[in-house]
Amino acid sequence: MAVCPQCGFSNADNATFCTHCGRSLQSPAAAPPLQATGVVVPPIGTTIPNYLVFAILTTVLCCLPTGIPAIIYASQVNTKLQLGDVAGAQAASNNAKMWCWISFGLGLVMFVGYGLVATLGVIGSLHRR
Ligand SMILES: [Zn+2]
Repeated sequence: MAVCPQCGFSNADNATFCTHCGRSLQSPAAAPPLQATGVVVPPIGTTIPNYLVFAILTTVLCCLPTGIPAIIYASQVNTKLQLGDVAGAQAASNNAKMWCWISFGLGLVMFVGYGLVATLGVIGSLHRR
């Protein structure tokens, strides 16, 4: 396995370029091992999506309690990132995303459900006339 020294992607043995970032893999031995640095420094420009806007929108639009954990996790992303806790920020980001989609899904189900009931009610009232 030829591990990319730039992004850590595991390429095929005969790969000459990283299929993930395009870096040349001709001299993998020259790359310093990641452990040698000792400190995990996020690459410059590292951004972890915090889904805060998504979380607020689903909470406001869907009015569901599942939006609350989404907002809490979303607000933790930037805080942890500033503290250098990249893994924690990533975990919070994943949790925020999960709760966003749960809120969004439940909101959609309720919206469709209400629409269905309303439609059936209209049809039913029309038939009674
Ligand atoms: Zn790469």
